[in-house]
Formats: sequence, C-alpha cells, structure tokens
Amino acid sequence: MSTLLLVEDDLAIAQPLMFTLQREGFAVLHVTLGRAALQAMQAGDAGQATPAAVILDVGLPDLTGFEVCRQLRAFSTVPVLFLTAQADEIDRVMGLEIGADDYVTKPFSPREVVARIRSLLRRAAITQQQAAAVAPEPGVFAVDEARAQIRFHGQTLALTVTEYRLLLALLAQPGRVFTREQLIDAARGLNVGSGERAIDTHIKGLRAKLAAVHPASDPIRTHRGLGYSVEP
Ligand code: CA
Repeated sequence: MSTLLLVEDDLAIAQPLMFTLQREGFAVLHVTLGRAALQAMQAGDAGQATPAAVILDVGLPDLTGFEVCRQLRAFSTVPVLFLTAQADEIDRVMGLEIGADDYVTKPFSPREVVARIRSLLRRAAITQQQAAAVAPEPGVFAVDEARAQIRFHGQTLALTVTEYRLLLALLAQPGRVFTREQLIDAARGLNVGSGERAIDTHIKGLRAKLAAVHPASDPIRTHRGLGYSVEP
C-alpha cells in the first residue's frame, strides 16, 4: 500500500479526495500547510511511511505550492501532482523547472486524481528500475539512487530533477539512441507546455555541468534528426 501526502487547506476538496484515495487502497497523510508538508517529507519522520507521491495544492495559507515544491526538490525526487485553479499558472512554472510532475485543474473529479497518481507512481517505478540497471562504471558515472545523485569522474553533479532523470535514462542503456520523445517520457511531466525543444535545452545544461567537471570528455552524443545517446 502506497502512502500519499495530500497538502490541501480546503477541507471541502480534501475530504472527498481522501475518501476516494483510501477506497482505492492508498494510505493518505493529510496536512493543510506547506511547512507541515515539508516536515512530513523530511527523512526520519518517526512512525510514518515516506509518502510515495505528493498531491500539492498551489494556494496554501503559508507557502505557495510552488515554493513547497522548490524546497522539496532540494532533498527529494518524489512525484508531485499539483492541484490548481489556473492551468496557465502551472504552464508558466513548469517552464521554470520547478520539478512538478503533473497537475489537475480545479474542479476535478477524485477519480481523475487517482488515475494521475497511478500513472506517476508507474513512471517512478520505471525510473527506479533504470537506476538499478545502470552498470557501475567507476571513474566515469556512478548513480546513487537513494540520494538521487549522479557522480561524474568522482564528483557529484548538481542536477535539476529533469537533468537527473534524463541522464539516468541515457545511462541505463549506454550507446542506445533515445529520441526526444522517449527522453520526454523519461523526464516525466516535462511535456506540459514545453515540447521537444525543451529536451535540447536540458541536454545543453547537462553537458555544461559535465564539462565543468571534466572538460575533455563529452559523453553525450547528438544524433542529428534522431536524438541523443551516452557513450558506452
Ligand atoms: Ca487552497
């Protein structure tokens, strides 16, 4: 049974949603403040299972949902589903690389939220499998899935969530050429209002970070008209 963290101050929204989620077999931890959400997600919260996904209202009384997500991403790659009254607000923020995975617009049906959450959990499971499949190559790349970190030539890369997921996907199958579409899937949630060109931007950022560590090696290859691969 997966535990979900629901962050929503409006009880008229939270209660029916909790009811449906629990009926669908999820355990739900409900908080109404952004700070309480961050606290609940901090490691070592005694007696609580670490939530497998977060359902995060944008309009909270203390912090905005965006700020909560930004702070959360400093220590967690947990899937985040935003609840918002305005989709355009989310599109803008997705562009800012805040690390949100998906959103639903109010009013929504609880069943829709369940479907989105299931999809996020499936994608998270695939990412974990990829991380497990990455062969250890000491000296070049080393993946530390528990910390959601990747080391390159012994140095931990300061990656955004999207960059981490992209590199993880590439490393899971060295030499394989990934299309931009496949990389968008790997980066999950990036498709919202951004498209294939966003992949190029993220790859560019990733390359810059790799070059900063080890300028001589350029392990990401561009395949014109096809996509990207990482050198075996
Ligand atoms: Ca609210």
